[in-house]
Amino acid sequence: MALREIRTYPDEVLRKKCRPVAQIDDRVLQLLADMTDTLHDCPNGAAIAAPQVGVLRRVVVIDMGQGLIQLVNPEIIRAEGEQEVYEGCLSFPGQYGKLIRPAEVEVRALNEKGEEFTLTGTGDLAKCLCHELDHLDGVLFIDKAEEIERL
Ligand code: ZN
Repeated sequence: MALREIRTYPDEVLRKKCRPVAQIDDRVLQLLADMTDTLHDCPNGAAIAAPQVGVLRRVVVIDMGQGLIQLVNPEIIRAEGEQEVYEGCLSFPGQYGKLIRPAEVEVRALNEKGEEFTLTGTGDLAKCLCHELDHLDGVLFIDKAEEIERL
């Protein structure tokens, strides 16, 4: 088990655009494993994107209690509807924002074996996919939030 340090705002790595993964090699597999360990070490963590551990690659790990989802080079290929959500971020401890996200999104990505798959998320999963994919372009939830609450 290897934990990586979670970068918190305003660490400038959170504002950088991530590069696609060209090949799923041992370094990428190690990154996925470490991101998974780091996420599971956070009591309220549902997902983590690579820049949050200081790595500028297009890699996301999600675990909302219904199985681990590992996404390499994810892209939103369809978004429908809207929902008002509250969301937080491991890089913003104690802060929550109210914002509008799509109600449903379809994402295309590679799995850890390099196989392409698509995933459809509604509700909390749609919110989470949008939040994490934004991280890969240096976009943070505070950019889109109508209100920020500090607890
Ligand atoms: Zn986040």
